[in-house]
Amino acid sequence: MGNDSNHKRREPLARLETTEEALSDSFKHYLTYNLGRSSGTTPVYAYNAMSLTLRDRIMADWRNTSLAQKQVGVRRTYYLSLEFLIGRALGNHLLNMGISKQTDAALQTMCFELEDIQEAEADAGLGNGGLGRLAACFLDSCATLELPVTGYGIRYQYGMFRQEIINGFQDEEPDHWLRDGNPWEIERPEYSQRIKFGGYTEYRHDDSGKLVAKWVDTRDVIAIPYDMPVTGYRNNTVNTLRLWHSTATDEFNLDEFNAGSYSDSVAAKNSAENISMVLYPNDATENGKELRLKQQYFLASASIQDVIRQWEKRFDGEPDYSQFAHDNVFQMNDTHPTICVAELMRILLDEKGLEWKDAWSIVTKSLAYTNHTLLPEALEKWPVSLFECLLPRLLDIIYEINSRFLRAVSQRWPGNTERQSRMSIIEEGPVKHVRMAHLAIVGSFSINGVAALHSELLKKGLFRDFYELWPEKFNNKTNGVTPRRWVAQSNPLMTELISSQIGEDWIRDLSQLEQVKPLAQLENTEFRQNWKAVKQANKARLAELVKERCDVEFNTDAMFDVQVKRIHEYKRQLLNVLHVIHLYNQVKNGDIKDWSPRCVLIGGKAAPGYLLAKDIIKLINCVAEVINNDSEVGDKLKLAFFPNYNVSSMEIIAPGADLSEQISTAGKEASGTGNMKFMMNGALTIGTYDGANIEILEAVGEENFFLFGLRENEVEAMRSHYRPEEFIEHDQDLQAVLNLLRCGHFNSNEPGIFNNIINSLMNPHDPWMTLADFRSYVDEQAKVSETWQDQEKWVTMSILNSASSGFFSTDRTMHEYNQDIWHLEPVSG
Ligand SMILES: *Cc1c(COP(=O)(O)O)cnc(C)c1O
Repeated sequence: MGNDSNHKRREPLARLETTEEALSDSFKHYLTYNLGRSSGTTPVYAYNAMSLTLRDRIMADWRNTSLAQKQVGVRRTYYLSLEFLIGRALGNHLLNMGISKQTDAALQTMCFELEDIQEAEADAGLGNGGLGRLAACFLDSCATLELPVTGYGIRYQYGMFRQEIINGFQDEEPDHWLRDGNPWEIERPEYSQRIKFGGYTEYRHDDSGKLVAKWVDTRDVIAIPYDMPVTGYRNNTVNTLRLWHSTATDEFNLDEFNAGSYSDSVAAKNSAENISMVLYPNDATENGKELRLKQQYFLASASIQDVIRQWEKRFDGEPDYSQFAHDNVFQMNDTHPTICVAELMRILLDEKGLEWKDAWSIVTKSLAYTNHTLLPEALEKWPVSLFECLLPRLLDIIYEINSRFLRAVSQRWPGNTERQSRMSIIEEGPVKHVRMAHLAIVGSFSINGVAALHSELLKKGLFRDFYELWPEKFNNKTNGVTPRRWVAQSNPLMTELISSQIGEDWIRDLSQLEQVKPLAQLENTEFRQNWKAVKQANKARLAELVKERCDVEFNTDAMFDVQVKRIHEYKRQLLNVLHVIHLYNQVKNGDIKDWSPRCVLIGGKAAPGYLLAKDIIKLINCVAEVINNDSEVGDKLKLAFFPNYNVSSMEIIAPGADLSEQISTAGKEASGTGNMKFMMNGALTIGTYDGANIEILEAVGEENFFLFGLRENEVEAMRSHYRPEEFIEHDQDLQAVLNLLRCGHFNSNEPGIFNNIINSLMNPHDPWMTLADFRSYVDEQAKVSETWQDQEKWVTMSILNSASSGFFSTDRTMHEYNQDIWHLEPVSG
């Protein structure tokens, strides 16, 4: 923020008052004089007026934090991510500023309800799922820990699509989240950056005879930054999320205009504006589209140039580049921004005139890479030919990086050409590709996975060759979630109950939840009663939402069994559906002794091109239709598909869940973070030995966790001789379930529509080996049902799950990144 440098000290801005009266005056001012509305207006305008009121009250801290972070000697981190799934802002800022009460009161006197106003805010859905939500939780924790961390991303005009369900099928609608304006963002055109595409490299010798490269004849695009405040929890620290918007250059119309094609040249503006138009809606799959590579370079180049611009202002005269890596560190969220490696080299070589070895030393001391998945379909590879057209100068640099790297490999393993070709940044073959993960590893000083198992598998499998070369680069940072949004904000009743017992400090230091453990004991009848009442109230709130969105009645006395996450074969929503069909069979067979009634909720978006995932959504809806309309089933079993699962719906769903479904094929879910949100909110988990489930199990104890299924090594050992029929032959329950599917019981009017699903389950090459875990899943679910019969036991387990969730705060995660990778000092505003 601000074009301030050290020699131009600014007056600190005065903080504005946050009394009920001040808030009410400011709100009225914005509503009437700024927005031109009267007191009888709709919630959207009231939301805008209140957001502007609060933004004013964030501004002084925002400027002070920003100035403090620009001081000489302050080391800073830049979190580079193509996704920030931030959701709504208003309630979050209110919580962090600690002024919900007076805001609510101020609104009431003007006949507005805070809740209605909050509902008017569109989710900022600038991400697909876990990876994007993680970035948002990280920013929250960094601001709370007063770490000088800035987020850099893209201001997509269309975020994650809105999912509608039509005749049981997913329909995608564009999410024009900026239509009513975004009161939280501040446009800063004065810090725009120019981004080059196309053209070619020109080499010439400079006066001293040195060969210098120049990237010429480019088609340029302008990146305009929009800043969003990231408030810390009650600490007056406000960090920044800077999102880039793409637009055409002014001059770029002129040539064509002179040639007489004014309309064509104006139309050509589109290709520049397109870069930040839309988020690619694929989770854990590579996109391979030209526009996506443009987005990646656009973010990398704009952000690096912006960091260099700010950092150079620390110097009176010539910047001392030997200090750069001392002052700056970039954390790359997956391989998406990995073109940074080559872009930082390009700027240092071509624009700052550094020698290769000096530039490379800076790059490899300031970049760090987080891997998010082992799935081969997610590993980014770009055709060399695409690089040649779009980023020719960066391709030159990548080739040079690679040839120097391969020389080092051949020195370490002389004559091992096999290894060289395995490790090369360039994949040879009929179509040559750039392997972005290899570029990230070669260019980074730190490479981390996101849960203990995942980080081990990286070293043993995918990145083994690199681990053997540079073991010291590899480390684990188990993910987390922010307890501000995911407990304090989304579960006010539980927050109040916990705070009444142990004070409020746990919100800043989640390990203090340990103090709740003794309260789980049976003699604490009052606390346990209150705990139950809180869950019951949260279930009622969720049931109301389910009724409204799914038109299905959930009885709050039943177990709320929830699986919400992106729809993907590896996450095995299918296994969940098979279990629901099995329960349905039990009811139909009268096998209902000691029945535990269940309301099963499944939600999530499928990538629009992922046909099997879309079939799974249809299947869930078809099974739900049959079950929910069978009078014999009644309240014993309900199934609902929750449409348009997003951050603000998770804020209602997690507190209302009894059972959290975390049932991925072992070895496939890198970490998961939904699992942590449920645990914090007192749900019990049924899960495989995968990702952070393992650490959840260790934290809460196996007696408080429902574990099932093959382990990662068992999955891999079975893969080559997996025969689904074997599992069917020996399992009458599975036979019954598959028979219902095969005979079209759930799709009598649409025959054959589930054939692809059935075939995938029956395929000996099914990578997710769903049927191999069916028996163990169904048996463990029976234990879940049995435990539900003992409500006292369930409450104990629920309390212990929340009380053991302290490790899964992103405050802990950020502390570890800082200790091991970033080495930042806290800076207060
Ligand atoms: C937490 C969260 C996710 C990640 O869920 P997983 O179960 O870890 O895949 C995805 N989407 C939203 C909206 C979330 O809040």
